[in-house]
Amino acid sequence: MNDKKGLLVVFSAPSGCGKDTILQTIFQNKNCEDFVLSRSMTTRAPRSGEQNGVDYYFVTREEFEQKIAAGRLIEFAEYSGNYYGTPKDPVEAWLAQGKIVILEIEVQGASKVVRAYPEALSIFILPPSLEELERRLRLRNTDSEETIARRIALAPGEIAKSSEFKHCVVNDDLTRASEEVYQLIISEREHI
Ligand code: 5GP
Repeated sequence: MNDKKGLLVVFSAPSGCGKDTILQTIFQNKNCEDFVLSRSMTTRAPRSGEQNGVDYYFVTREEFEQKIAAGRLIEFAEYSGNYYGTPKDPVEAWLAQGKIVILEIEVQGASKVVRAYPEALSIFILPPSLEELERRLRLRNTDSEETIARRIALAPGEIAKSSEFKHCVVNDDLTRASEEVYQLIISEREHI
């Protein structure tokens, strides 16, 4: 039985800042016994290799809109032409069990969670520069030129929202940034 209080962690960044990789590094190298990563729902088509129920719950716009209407999402956002949202029931259940629940989400949705859950630990990942962000998005080789251009265009407005978050971490070096994020989570956990 876990006697710790649950901790909600809102982890956000412009696309291409490396938030996925930072979390993977933490999960591979650190003690993450109490950590859970919330699985989102999206209307985006699966990329090659992505599986329903593993990477996301892939749903139609109609199904997604039903979830919104039924109040079953903590937050949702329309990003780059698709809906993305966080299912409420699993997150509430994990928090009640004392877990550290990580929402890895884009900035508009994260900003809503920061306002709705002021007790949440919010962490914003910044790129070393906009040029570096563009370079990383192209290197990833997962998106069309149109999607990359849309994501780059969104970044300055997203970065402007970083001041709403409790902590900002610059991803200039993966090992260092991952360590900083992990320590922020562990130290918050010790103080609640
Ligand atoms: P991708 O299409 O690259 O998987 O995700 C695009 C963006 O949507 C990423 O920044 C990702 O973190 C974000 N995202 C994933 N799930 C959610 C969610 O449930 N809510 C919101 N607001 N953004 C999400």
